[in-house]
Amino acid sequence: MFESKKIFILGMARSGYEAAKLLSQYNNKIVINDSNEKQDESHLEELRNLGVSVILGTHPDDILDESFDYVIKNPGIRDTHKYIEFAKKNNIKVINEMEMAYHFLPKDIKLIGITGTNGKTTTTTLIYEIIKKSGKNVHLTGNIGFPFAGFINKIKPGDYIVTEVSIQQLLNLDDFKTDISVLTNLSEAHIDHVGSYENYINLKKKIFAHHSKSDIAIINHDNDDCMKITSDINSEKIYFSTNKINTDVYLKDDIIYYKNEKIINIKDIKLVGMHNYQNIMCAISATKELGIDNNSICEVLETFIGVEHRLEFVKRINGRDFYNDSKATNNKSTEIALSSFTRPTILLLGGLDRGQSFEELYEYMTHVKSIVTYGQTKEKIKEFADSHNIDCTIVETLKDATTLAYNISEENDIILLSPACASWDQYKKFEDRGDDFKNVVNEIEENVKYD
Ligand code: ADP
Repeated sequence: MFESKKIFILGMARSGYEAAKLLSQYNNKIVINDSNEKQDESHLEELRNLGVSVILGTHPDDILDESFDYVIKNPGIRDTHKYIEFAKKNNIKVINEMEMAYHFLPKDIKLIGITGTNGKTTTTTLIYEIIKKSGKNVHLTGNIGFPFAGFINKIKPGDYIVTEVSIQQLLNLDDFKTDISVLTNLSEAHIDHVGSYENYINLKKKIFAHHSKSDIAIINHDNDDCMKITSDINSEKIYFSTNKINTDVYLKDDIIYYKNEKIINIKDIKLVGMHNYQNIMCAISATKELGIDNNSICEVLETFIGVEHRLEFVKRINGRDFYNDSKATNNKSTEIALSSFTRPTILLLGGLDRGQSFEELYEYMTHVKSIVTYGQTKEKIKEFADSHNIDCTIVETLKDATTLAYNISEENDIILLSPACASWDQYKKFEDRGDDFKNVVNEIEENVKYD
């Protein structure tokens, strides 16, 4: 299918680079184009040495013509891009790197695809870790930052592939078919990219495309839209719920059951929060369906502290538990984090000012004893806290905020970085903010030891 063809790759990034590298092994004529001139030098050299024509900095009108067989589009590029419109008009097939790489897979692999509005990365990682723990050969791929195409030469018959699938990737999937698909949940998001919520949820349904009764669909029974869009799929359905007990996977007396078999007590699980129990139910369903043993499942759940920066448990110092939720860049995520705890909490809040209000956080603040605020939004947050008589102190930086939080904390407190704001006023990305927080926590621990 992808041999001796003319292929135009639009968008370099990691996935464009991996796609070009893979396709260059099959006598294809490849052009790769990106408007951004700044690309990894070693990648550029490697591609040029493989005979790939690399055009950077502009989108010249004459580099795509009718003679091309495929356009491979980076998931972030819109359908209104002039090359995509040209391809569609001229019957050139437009796909993405994931769809292309799918066609290179050996026949007898097990492919597990995870999508949904929230919880994709956590669920994908949990499934991967459990399969790995059981001793099987497994690959972690997809939207999680590891393009599928980069794994093709490493995948052997009998391997397991766990792949996170974003809405942008679903847009251009065609023949792609999983053995097990997980739909974590659906809520209003990414509408700008797909036009409407209706389009969004119908696109999410593509994760079950080409399924028959021998394929598995893992579905959130508590989410009406998940139920709605899966009513007519052909898959064998596994339902999970955290608030009913008549589903395949359920929570009763703090124990998670899978088809009435006791799997684990939530007190033994490191992750916190009902949302994470839902992610865990997805992971239990997928791995049980693959025949993975309970020991492997439980060992991972008893030790997995979360994906970095997502309500990640950092450490316990003198009876205070530090959590890093730097990925929480809006109120909704901070609400989820706050709902995950019942213990007294000191909340580190603040960052880029997008003109947002913090009022909707109020109903989640019942166990917040203090807020320490920093960054561009600090004055606004102080005003919000004062209007509700919540103790709040302004400082300049996250380092100051973390140190102060520790100094005013008591044994059994949670110290939670869940800033409800983007990090760009003080950091390049939320990962840097989370790393900074963890470094300060480590410093606090060192000082405590030497007191
Ligand atoms: P995604 O990959 O879909 O963005 P992540 O696993 O990276 O999801 O989690 C990102 C954030 O989404 C978490 O910090 C939490 O606030 C929220 N979240 C995670 N899982 C769920 C879930 N099952 N339901 C609702 N929100 C969730």
